[in-house]
Amino acid sequence: MPWDFETDPDFQKEIDWMNEFVRQEVEPLDHVLGSPWNIHDPRFATLVRPLQRIVKERQLWACHLGPELGGRGYGQVKLALMNEVLGRSNFGPIVFGCQAPDSGNAEILAHYGTEAQKRRWLEPLLNNDIVSCFAMTEPQGGADPQVFTTEAKRDGDDWLITGQKWFASNARYAAFFIVMAVTDTQVSAYEGMSMFVVSAGTPGLSIVRNIANGDDAEATHAYLDFNRVRVPAEALLGPEGKAFEVAQVRLGGGRVHHAMRVIGQAQMALDALCERALSRSTQGSRLADKQMVQEKIADSWIELEQFRLLVMRTAWRIDKYGDYRKVRKDIAAVKAAMPKVLHDIAARALQVHGSIGVSQEMPFAGLINRSFQMALADGPTEVHKVTVAKQLLRGYRATEALFPAYHRPTAAAAAQAKLLSALE
Ligand SMILES: Cc1cc2nc3c(=O)[nH]c(=O)nc-3n(C[C@H](O)[C@H](O)[C@H](O)COP(=O)(O)OP(=O)(O)OC[C@H]3O[C@@H](n4cnc5c(N)ncnc54)[C@H](O)[C@@H]3O)c2cc1C
Repeated sequence: MPWDFETDPDFQKEIDWMNEFVRQEVEPLDHVLGSPWNIHDPRFATLVRPLQRIVKERQLWACHLGPELGGRGYGQVKLALMNEVLGRSNFGPIVFGCQAPDSGNAEILAHYGTEAQKRRWLEPLLNNDIVSCFAMTEPQGGADPQVFTTEAKRDGDDWLITGQKWFASNARYAAFFIVMAVTDTQVSAYEGMSMFVVSAGTPGLSIVRNIANGDDAEATHAYLDFNRVRVPAEALLGPEGKAFEVAQVRLGGGRVHHAMRVIGQAQMALDALCERALSRSTQGSRLADKQMVQEKIADSWIELEQFRLLVMRTAWRIDKYGDYRKVRKDIAAVKAAMPKVLHDIAARALQVHGSIGVSQEMPFAGLINRSFQMALADGPTEVHKVTVAKQLLRGYRATEALFPAYHRPTAAAAAQAKLLSALE
């Protein structure tokens, strides 16, 4: 009976330590500093670097990486449990060296980077001496790569990149950009796009403007312009024409980590909902005694537990198969389910808090906005649902019969033919 819902006791000790450390030392940073990716803020050195050193000494730094890159090579189940704790604070991931998009960009560089690219970009990135940006989406559309037009053209030994990118997170702090560009217009987008590493400050690369999200303390998503940005041949990352193969390296694990961090945030909203229900009274009784509030609490807990189990099983399946392609349906399902869980629980917490709930003084409006961000970043929910359905349908066949397999009169006739003679 290999079903097991327990955490290894030694690892649980690490999770307990993380819980306390994040609550006491990391969560306060959210109230004092701006964007976690702004490593250039002098206060970052004073407040964040010492915490990163503690995490490194505890050997919990960048645990998603293998030992050859300075991590622990933890599987997705352990990473999922860790990310659940880190999700409570904006600074959690950066203090533990596993923040997106740097974690995914590091995975790409480790997998496809040349020795020179690794030396220049990967080593400082792993140490959080620099941060990075992933630029794929374009202003005319993100969900469909076939509309991307940013082009890289050969010019002697160099490439010239021209086009625009949209919602490129943390561009304003990044030392380099991983950019997806069309290198062959004669074939499909899936065969004719390549990845490049572009250093910040390369002439022709500029930020048109930075865009703020609902709960973004600083505007951190950039509208980028590439005006004949010249990069050397060595800037190509991975094989020419294989941008999608390269991009896939960063997406599978990353989506599960996002999901676990969302569980941490939804749990916070549920904690707040329960505390408020017990603390506030109206019309002679506590909110906690009113059945419609009880329903909100019960629904929230049930939805969160269901989602957590789906995420944990997906993490377990990634570890089991060691191949994201075999777990595509599960990962897409997690990605599609995640925004709704966060949205619904945060919305119930907001409602039960009344006017203070809707205000900027509580985190719920920000969490609801974040639920929509989760429904877009790394692809819209609709696209992931399509993946779930397509993968699921592979296990079925159309029937040749006139009536469906579960047609009751047909099944009854077959059952009678089989069983009635035995009863006679
Ligand atoms: C917080 C955040 C951070 C991001 N960070 C980055 C980043 O660092 N780098 C980067 O390159 N991009 C980033 N993005 C962009 C993200 O990848 C895109 O927003 C996403 O791919 C959708 O593209 P779009 O916004 O252009 O929407 P569109 O492609 O215009 O889609 C709009 C809507 O159309 C509907 N739709 C789309 N396709 C289908 C379909 N097949 N079936 C049914 N309905 C559909 C959906 O409702 C979808 O939301 C980020 C986005 C957010 C919100």
